[in-house]
Amino acid sequence: MPNTPELLAKLETYIPADGLETVRQAIEYAKEMHEGQFRSSGEPYYTHPIEVAGILADMKMDVTSIVTAILHDTIEDTPATYESVSKKFGTVVADLVDGVSKLTRIESKTREGKQAENFRKLLLAMSEDIRVLLVKLADRLHNMRTIEGIQKPEKRRRIALETLEIYAPLAERVGVHAIKSELEDLAFGVMNPEARDSITKRLSFLRKEGITVVDNIIEELAKLLSDSELTPEITGREKTRYSIWKKMQRKNVAFEQLSDIMAFRIADDNIGQCYEVLGLI
Ligand code: MN
Repeated sequence: MPNTPELLAKLETYIPADGLETVRQAIEYAKEMHEGQFRSSGEPYYTHPIEVAGILADMKMDVTSIVTAILHDTIEDTPATYESVSKKFGTVVADLVDGVSKLTRIESKTREGKQAENFRKLLLAMSEDIRVLLVKLADRLHNMRTIEGIQKPEKRRRIALETLEIYAPLAERVGVHAIKSELEDLAFGVMNPEARDSITKRLSFLRKEGITVVDNIIEELAKLLSDSELTPEITGREKTRYSIWKKMQRKNVAFEQLSDIMAFRIADDNIGQCYEVLGLI
């Protein structure tokens, strides 16, 4: 099981021993249940739920979420049932796995893009426990990371479009920005690889020229404010390739004409101080 030690190593950093034992049992169970099933890439199927659990482990999610992730496709796609999962791992895990299965089922029923808004609301409403949605988002993220394994280009595009319309906005809605950005970036690569490549090239050119060095600019801003009494918190980031692309579309401009490819945030304690900072800058 190549990806199992990696998952356990991540979990060891924050989950107690008895939790790890449950995780090991879940891995064994998933492996047994998915026996003989394979991913489009040809890998044994159980590697997928383990990777999904790994994504949640990076977010330091609790044992219950991790176990749910490992079992998330068992009720839907294997001989496992709600009863058997509940007997082995308890009703909380069984309910969560069941919740993920329900989302998977309505997902395949509602395949028309025009109802994206309603579909998003439905998914949100059905996820009584936020962990159901987080497992589903991690599931989608791993499917997007491995989308090259899917042979048919039109199927890849359909999944990418669904990701942009449904899952990235949902990830943003529940506040997991890292997942939102990565989902968008991966989907962008499927929908419009040429555009993504050209933005990548342009960004690395600007970085080499020292134009988009976020840290330098933060330092400069801090220096500018150092003569004042103000000590705000300054953060900054380079915008993502997809958000740059969206802006180019919206404003109908070429990348060269786009001026804001970095974003900074300066936060201070009160409105007066914020205006003072603004004045100085
Ligand atoms: Mn899955």
